[in-house]
Amino acid sequence: MKWEGIIKKYRDFLPVTDKTPIVSLQEGNTPLILSNFLSKEIGLDVYLKYDGANPTGSFKDRGMTMAISKAKENNTTAVMCASTGNTSASAAAYSARCGLKCIVLIPEGNIALGKLAQAMIHNAQVIAIKGNFDQALTLVKEITSSYPIELVNSLNPFRIEGQKSAAFEICDFLSDAPVFHAIPVGNAGNITAYWKGYKEYKAAGKTTCLPKMLGFQAAKSAPIVDKHIIENPETLATAIRIGNPASWKTAEEARDESGGIIDKVTDEEILQAYKMLAQKEGVFAEPASAASVAGILKLHKTNFFKNQKGNIVCTLTGHGLKDPNLAIENVQKPSVIEPDLKTVLKEIGIK
Ligand SMILES: *Cc1c(COP(=O)(O)O)cnc(C)c1O
Repeated sequence: MKWEGIIKKYRDFLPVTDKTPIVSLQEGNTPLILSNFLSKEIGLDVYLKYDGANPTGSFKDRGMTMAISKAKENNTTAVMCASTGNTSASAAAYSARCGLKCIVLIPEGNIALGKLAQAMIHNAQVIAIKGNFDQALTLVKEITSSYPIELVNSLNPFRIEGQKSAAFEICDFLSDAPVFHAIPVGNAGNITAYWKGYKEYKAAGKTTCLPKMLGFQAAKSAPIVDKHIIENPETLATAIRIGNPASWKTAEEARDESGGIIDKVTDEEILQAYKMLAQKEGVFAEPASAASVAGILKLHKTNFFKNQKGNIVCTLTGHGLKDPNLAIENVQKPSVIEPDLKTVLKEIGIK
């Protein structure tokens, strides 16, 4: 079957009509990769939902195809978002595709290089504020509620609607819902979207069960776990460097209704999982994505999965190439040698 994006595939579950102009880059249909290493380690089948394989390199495209299509349907001329990077990259690309003006507010100095490059090459108006993501979002909310500019952050309900599609794809692939679903939590839109998706698919008779939702925040950016707003969130996983999640309440509902948990992982645990994915599975995901894997490894150490059977799905939210600097900082630099055969052979261990 030819793939034409998530709206065409799942339109029965989405608030679109014949009048909605579909703006798509054929997002979705991303790989669900069985992780041999993690399955052996944990004793359940662990799958990686590699959403870095979306057109702009993150899951944000699933929500953006909906948000931008609806903005076009409403004859909007401009959209705006606050972003740790991936939302702006996606908003910029989908806006370029349909001729919308796109304005993005980013926290200065705390956005990965690849994401900034994307927003700029797609010709968004990029404005860096001397503040953090939470401050950027407050400003964007104020502006979009007073002027005819559409908000395309995950507070936009169409974003959540589109992002549900990842849960549908997983259920279609596995022929049922998994037992556990692990996911990084930043602004908490995605955990909200997955849970909504799993519930709707079950209600439609497409699955027989619901997963327990396992959300993971970065240790120094963990407002939901710590039960209070974090004024100055810190983590090298910039995509989840958020101290006051917009979808806080619905994330707690996903946790509680599913019988799951929201926990936190340290930057060190995130880095370990990040390297493990790249070096033991051949999967290059950005550091924030690795929080889901770091999380299940942490739970495994406390015997959380003991006597459990079935599938765990970990969402890998974005592509590793988004943040090339971090990758290079965390590996050995290439050795520099003379360009002759003997020296190269010696270097690779052939005498
Ligand atoms: C946006 C994003 C997150 C966080 O998702 P929320 O919906 O804000 O919780 C995690 N990882 C990556 C790569 C992202 O781009």
